[in-house]
Amino acid sequence: MTIADNPVQISSPKPRVRPRSLADLLAPLDRIAAHSPSLIANHEARFEAGGRSYELPRYLFVGPCGGDTPIRVGIFAGIHGDEPEGTYAMIQFIKLIESKPELATGYCLSLYPVCNPTGFEAGTRLSRAGRDLNREFWRNSTEPEVRLLQAELVSRSFHGIISLHTDDTSDGFYGVVGGATLTKHLVEPALRAAEKILSRNQRPVIDGFPARNGIIHEAYDGMLSAPPRVRPRPFEIILETPKAPPEYLKEAAFAASLQAILAEYRRFIAYAPNL
Ligand SMILES: [Zn+2]
Repeated sequence: MTIADNPVQISSPKPRVRPRSLADLLAPLDRIAAHSPSLIANHEARFEAGGRSYELPRYLFVGPCGGDTPIRVGIFAGIHGDEPEGTYAMIQFIKLIESKPELATGYCLSLYPVCNPTGFEAGTRLSRAGRDLNREFWRNSTEPEVRLLQAELVSRSFHGIISLHTDDTSDGFYGVVGGATLTKHLVEPALRAAEKILSRNQRPVIDGFPARNGIIHEAYDGMLSAPPRVRPRPFEIILETPKAPPEYLKEAAFAASLQAILAEYRRFIAYAPNL
């Protein structure tokens, strides 16, 4: 499949300088939020690490009204600090929905582009405290990043949770499904959309888990997820990009799959209001 015939907007392939400073990284979003009627920046979530104060950046994007209560979806990136692809993709995605808000019609999106700020800065999977934050959820963790994110997961009570990751052992894009039963119906359109840009991982085993058509139904304990006792379960999707392809393709594949999930779930809600 070539990228020429895909309908998704792909940004320029010229190499970009990637900031490792959180302030430089977030500056474009904050410039948008300063004037946007839809994007709200919230810089209040802070924590201490290594004697320094860090922010866990949060943004809210309120899409055009869909006629019913807004659908609350949380999108999380960069919980592994050495996987900046999801972070950069989310910044591109926010720019995209800012320019085409109709893509987010009916949604209130909570956006967390850097869930592991110390790891992002250092380029390490683990946080500065040496923890894999994505194994700490709902296990009485004392890590401040996990506690802040858990508080968001409780207070926002999301209808859907999407996490963006990079798998440097994978040669294709794939998804991990959890939560609500309908999740599997959302991930297939997401992978189909991404597949126009990056090939799908079709291996029978991915990351040690049995897989089918690039979809895994199991995950590690302690991963970022809805609070354990929440019913009904929200949909939970992890999107994994391979590491090797150029940045602009990884970003475009994430953006295309996010759009597909929002469009598909909106359809579900429209046809099955009591789901
Ligand atoms: Zn990861």
